[in-house]
Amino acid sequence: MIIDSHTHIGSISQFHLPEQMLLDSMEKYSIDLAIVSNLEGNEFDSERKLIDPQISQFNVNEKVVRLRNRSIDRIKGLYWIKPHTEDFDSSVEEYLIKNKDTFCGFKIHPFHSHCSPLDDRLFPWYILAEKLNFPIVVHSSDDEYSHPELLFRTAQKYTNLTFVMVHLGLGTDNMDAIEYVKIQDNLIGETTWVNADNAFKAVKVCGSRKIMFGTDAPIAGPDTYAEYFELMRRFKLCLTTEEFDNVFYRNALRVFSL
Ligand SMILES: [Zn+2]
Repeated sequence: MIIDSHTHIGSISQFHLPEQMLLDSMEKYSIDLAIVSNLEGNEFDSERKLIDPQISQFNVNEKVVRLRNRSIDRIKGLYWIKPHTEDFDSSVEEYLIKNKDTFCGFKIHPFHSHCSPLDDRLFPWYILAEKLNFPIVVHSSDDEYSHPELLFRTAQKYTNLTFVMVHLGLGTDNMDAIEYVKIQDNLIGETTWVNADNAFKAVKVCGSRKIMFGTDAPIAGPDTYAEYFELMRRFKLCLTTEEFDNVFYRNALRVFSL
């Protein structure tokens, strides 16, 4: 079994990820289950300009519910938070309970929201996450909002929550991120765009229960999974069956309570 813990749909700015492309590539590359979030939750574009018009947080997440209804056995969703353009809305709790078969966590993109995970605007979301037992999945990279150290400090501050560090610090050599995941119990690492050498090192240093398979599919087109052949080959060759299963599906089952 393979669970891809990090996939997307949505068309916004330079991104165009049709739902069918995700479903077709899962089929082609034998991915059993994908955890999906809708990129249309981006508030700022890659040039740091506020996107106009914004797509409402509700509409962003409704698309994930609709996709899940199309493909019930193969899709779970992350609820994308838009902390820069929308205030915390207490009615979301009711919505998430109603759609508990779809959503299994929150997604925060510090760069595309210009909001570090330590930002106070996220505090009410963290309270809700604890109540719902939702992990918080967070993009990490070398910009001022997304640096791995900020998420490490967030995980130290909110020890009752589980945080997933996507990319292990995109644009870095991953070594700081691997160290943070190793020492912080409630911080899980994730493999999207981490090269095979560093991903393997992450499993060896942090332990196979701390690293989860994710890809950003289909962000690089219908064959995004082909980018991960070397990683999968190395993991198959060099990890025990138990370690392999942890990375490729058991951790996702545990972290997202699937
Ligand atoms: Zn992503």
